[in-house]
Amino acid sequence: MKIAVIGAGAAGLAALRHCISGTYNDQVVCYEKTDQIGGTWVYREETGSDKYGLSIHTSMYKSLRTNLPKEVMGYPDFPIPEGAASYLSRTEILDFLNSYCDHFALRPYIRLLHHVELVEPAVGDRKWSIKVRDLQRDIVRIESFDAIMVCNGHYFEPRIPNIPGQNIFIGKQIHSHDYRVPEIFDGKTVVVMGAGPSGMDLALEISKNANRVLLSHHMTDTIATVFPENIVQKADVVELTEREAVFANGTKEQIDVVFYCTGYKYSFPFLAESCGVRVDSNMVTPLWKHLVSIENTTLALIGLPYYVCAFSMFDLQVRFVLRHWHGERQFPARADMLRSEAEEVARRAERGLQKRHFHMMGPEQGHYYDDLANVAGVTPLPPVLTKLHNESSMRFMDDLVHYRQDRYKILDDYNYVQL
Ligand SMILES: Cc1cc2nc3c(=O)[nH]c(=O)nc-3n(C[C@H](O)[C@H](O)[C@H](O)COP(=O)(O)OP(=O)(O)OC[C@H]3O[C@@H](n4cnc5c(N)ncnc54)[C@H](O)[C@@H]3O)c2cc1C
Repeated sequence: MKIAVIGAGAAGLAALRHCISGTYNDQVVCYEKTDQIGGTWVYREETGSDKYGLSIHTSMYKSLRTNLPKEVMGYPDFPIPEGAASYLSRTEILDFLNSYCDHFALRPYIRLLHHVELVEPAVGDRKWSIKVRDLQRDIVRIESFDAIMVCNGHYFEPRIPNIPGQNIFIGKQIHSHDYRVPEIFDGKTVVVMGAGPSGMDLALEISKNANRVLLSHHMTDTIATVFPENIVQKADVVELTEREAVFANGTKEQIDVVFYCTGYKYSFPFLAESCGVRVDSNMVTPLWKHLVSIENTTLALIGLPYYVCAFSMFDLQVRFVLRHWHGERQFPARADMLRSEAEEVARRAERGLQKRHFHMMGPEQGHYYDDLANVAGVTPLPPVLTKLHNESSMRFMDDLVHYRQDRYKILDDYNYVQL
C-alpha cells in the first residue's frame, strides 16, 4: 500500500514506525508543515503566524512539565528511559521523540516544511489525492495514495466561549494556545477560565507572577486541592464589562486579563467534505472506534481520544488500522459500524456526558485499549498504564502543588510502586 501520514508529532511518528516495520512492506510518506518533528512538544516563542503565513501549531509554554509520569508516556516498545524524576520537562519529551525517530530510522520518510492543503477521494487507481505545498520552494504537488493516517494533533484550534461584553472589555484576552511565559501577568488580576488540566496548571503557574488569580469554573464541587493564597475559585463568568468580570452567582471583580483555558476544537482544515468526516459539537463523526472513517475506511484519524496514555494509544491505534487495511481483519458492514457508534453515543449520554465529551476516556481508557487489541488481534497495552494514569490524575486533583514530586516505577504489566 502507499500510505500518507499527515503530521510528524508523537502520533505521526508512531504511524510511520509501524508502516515501515517490514511487516507489510508499505510505501509511506509523512508530511510535516513545520521545520522539525515533535509537534506540540516543539516550543516556539512566536504566536500567531509563521513566516509562511501558517498559524503557529504548538501550544507549548516555556516552563511546561508533563502532567503525567514518564512511566505512562512512552511507546509500548520504546519506553522513556529510567531517570530520577517521573514528571519531565518539555525538552526531555522532545528529546525522547527525536530519539524514537532516530532509533527507528524514520527521518528519511519525513518531508519537513510540507503543508497538506487538501485531501480528497481520487478518481484514478489510488483512492486518495493529496495537495501538498513545499513551503520552501513554494511549489504545490498533487500526490495519490491508497490510505491516509491523519495525525495533525488536536490542540491548535482554540475554543473560546462567547461571553457578553467580550468586545467592550478593555483588558487583555488571551487563550492558552498563545501563552508562553508568566511574566505577561506580572502584578495583574487574572481570570483563568476553565479548570481542566491546563486551567489548573496555568492558574498555579501564573500565581507566582499575578497579583490575584480568579479560577472560574462550573464544577459543582469546589476543587479540593490546596491552592496558593492568591488563587480564589469563582463561578462561571457570565459577562464582561469594561473592567470587570461578572460571575454566575452575581458577584463582580475588577480584572486586568481574561485567560481562556477553555480547550480546543477538533479541526481538519485540509479534509474535503467528500472525505465524509465532520465535526459535530466537537464530536468527530462518523467514525468506527473513534478512529476509522466509516464512509471511507482507508482514512484513519489517529489520536482523537483524550485523557489517555497518548503515545501508547497512538501506537495501538496504528497497529489496529494496519491489520484491517492489510486484510488480516475485516471491517464490519457500514451499518454495523454506524450502529456501534450510535450505541456508544447513547451509553455516554446515559452517564450524563455531553456530545462534546464523546472522545473523552479517562477511567474508561482500559476498556478502549482492550477492545482495540481484541478486535484487531494485536498485543494489548499493559493494564498498569491505565492504573498509573488514574492514580496520577487523582494526585493531580488532590495535590496540584506537589504531585510532580511523586516518583514511580513500573514493576510488571499489572503493578507499579511509588518510590
Ligand atoms: C500544553 C500541552 C501540554 C501537554 N501535556 C501532556 C502531557 O503531560 N502528557 C501527555 O501525554 N500529553 C500531553 N499533551 C497532549 C499532547 O498533545 C500529546 O501528548 C501528543 O504530543 C499529541 O501528538 P500528536 O502527534 O497527536 O499531535 P501534535 O503533537 O500536535 O502533532 C501534529 C503535527 O501535525 C503537523 N500538522 C498539522 N497540520 C498539518 C498539515 N496540514 N500538513 C502537515 N503537517 C501538519 C503539525 O505541525 C504537528 O507537527 C499536552 C498537550 C499540550 C498542548
